[in-house]
Amino acid sequence: MGSPGHAPGKHSRKQRVNNVMPLSGPLVDAFGRVHTNLRISVTDRCNIRCFYCMPEENVLFSPRNEILTFEEIARFVRVAADMGVNKLRITGGEPLVRAQLPELIKQLKSVNGIDDVALTTNAILLADHAQSLRDAGLDRLNISIDTLSPEVFHRITRRDGLQRVLDGIEAARCAGFTRTRLNAVAIRGVTESEIEPLGRFARRSNLELRFIEFMPLDADGQWQSEHVLPGEEIRRRLEHCFGALRPAPRPDPSQPAVDYAYADGGGAVGFINPVSEPFCSACNRLRITAEGQVRNCLFSTAEWDARSLLRGGGSDEQLARLTLKCVAAKKPAHGIDQPDFVRPERAMYQIGG
Ligand code: SAM
Ligand code: SF4
Repeated sequence: MGSPGHAPGKHSRKQRVNNVMPLSGPLVDAFGRVHTNLRISVTDRCNIRCFYCMPEENVLFSPRNEILTFEEIARFVRVAADMGVNKLRITGGEPLVRAQLPELIKQLKSVNGIDDVALTTNAILLADHAQSLRDAGLDRLNISIDTLSPEVFHRITRRDGLQRVLDGIEAARCAGFTRTRLNAVAIRGVTESEIEPLGRFARRSNLELRFIEFMPLDADGQWQSEHVLPGEEIRRRLEHCFGALRPAPRPDPSQPAVDYAYADGGGAVGFINPVSEPFCSACNRLRITAEGQVRNCLFSTAEWDARSLLRGGGSDEQLARLTLKCVAAKKPAHGIDQPDFVRPERAMYQIGG
């Protein structure tokens, strides 16, 4: 088995894709990027309706029989782990609306080679599930919170529920989760007023806050570049409020966030700037949608159908070959800033953020 960072070996990627040798990792693309990180969407359903992700009404959800079972997900993960994947993130839609999720966490934690299983959630249901997730072995949580104002929360999510999110953050702490991160999508004209309160809340709670630039993945197709509130502008605003920020060491070169530490010891804050400062050259992420379609990028317009293999008697080697083909086809960059950029047909909730 290959491990992350290993050279592809004496057989070229082309030879392996063309079925010349048995397949094993690592998953290296045409630009030398080694894929060790898999994002798994477990549902396209959600209990709120963020405007930057889902439509407000008449959402087209996949029929339940099209969604991968836990056993199908675990089998795909075993194949991916044999190819060097060692980090998983569970996402959606809202992963906590999927029944029995801790059972999946247990299955994934027992896969050889998987070192880290994390979950991204809107935290509406987290207070009910934090302890069982922790007991199942979940390593880390990212909690999405864009605002501390109930009015702005409703404007963004088109639902109520801010207090439940705050209760979820507290429940995560009580359940023993450490290194929990807060994710805030930054949108010009909507969240400027939220920067200081969120910064203060994160500093007080001793949690790392990460601001994410709004990407063109909203189901309503309303995104325009003018809606992007650049991370650099937020960084300057935070410095004005809380004093100097110093660049923090980058332990993982493929991490999407650029992190800073407050000079006064008030913790860390990070910026994920996919629009103003794309980080594609270091990308090591692969995705599988809730219906078992493998994607090499959030913005990919192509998908590789693992579900047909999983349900049609396909072998592990065929699954490995499909995954390798998907990685081999990865473009050098998402190209949001290019004139010929084409949005993917699917919105964020259908892909898995
Ligand atoms: N429902 C969960 C949640 O909201 O945390 C997990 C899925 S959500 C798609 C994953 C992350 O993507 C969230 O932090 C969300 O805020 C972010 N996100 C969704 N749509 C986005 C967009 N158009 N641009 C930037 N981030 C987005
Ligand atoms: Fe749901 Fe997450 Fe999308 Fe918001 S960002 S609508 S919480 S899936």
